[in-house]
Amino acid sequence: MKNKITIAIDGYAACGKSTLAKDLAKALGYTFIDSGAMYRAVALYCLENHLIDTNGVVNLEQLEKSIGSLQIEISSDQKVFLNQKDISEAIRTPRVAGIVSKIAAIKLVRQKLVEQQQALGKAGGIVMDGRDIGSVVFPNAELKLFVTASDAIRTQRRLAELRSKGEQQSEADVLDNLKSRDLQDSTRAESPLIQVADALVLDTSNLNREEQLAWALLEVQKIIEQQ
Ligand code: C5P
Repeated sequence: MKNKITIAIDGYAACGKSTLAKDLAKALGYTFIDSGAMYRAVALYCLENHLIDTNGVVNLEQLEKSIGSLQIEISSDQKVFLNQKDISEAIRTPRVAGIVSKIAAIKLVRQKLVEQQQALGKAGGIVMDGRDIGSVVFPNAELKLFVTASDAIRTQRRLAELRSKGEQQSEADVLDNLKSRDLQDSTRAESPLIQVADALVLDTSNLNREEQLAWALLEVQKIIEQQ
């Protein structure tokens, strides 16, 4: 019996990482973890508990006091829980998207979440997507993917997702948020988003969901055959 591998998927916002990760995990019978949802959960906690003011200044002292007791869980059907409360919808709002990169740049937030992510992937058989999965969380992952897509495609995908949830946002605002998160995520001091040297690049701009999955499954198959 071949070992289950670890698959790390990184890339900019809204380029299709989570969809591909979810599809791959389903096809392989692996666990899927959307690490971005965990950062969004902490961002929501900060908003709800007034740990970030209207100027974007974070109360680090308070956050440090409470972060140890934050319980973030993701169920097998991809529901996200913060201290037992289902926050799956609440973390997808423009309000959370507007501050999440600021929260994700905080060292103690990353330390806590990376520890939890590594524990979740200890046994292998995991597909995790995010920004630092191939570089920091699972540097020894057997398969690392770096996913990209054009700005226009990313904007349309995120707009459609927001509209399906009844959120109204202009195209310009959506693109603004994606660009500003990309910039913050790739220029921060702590674990910035990078394309690691051993990652395979997948541009999803002109590929449908099935084509992306088929491409990735071929790469998985090559690795498993070499084991
Ligand atoms: O993947 P998603 O776009 O939902 O992630 C939301 C935000 O969480 C990102 O813009 C980034 O700031 C942060 N993030 C991160 N590291 C990860 C996953 C997400 O910093 N591994």
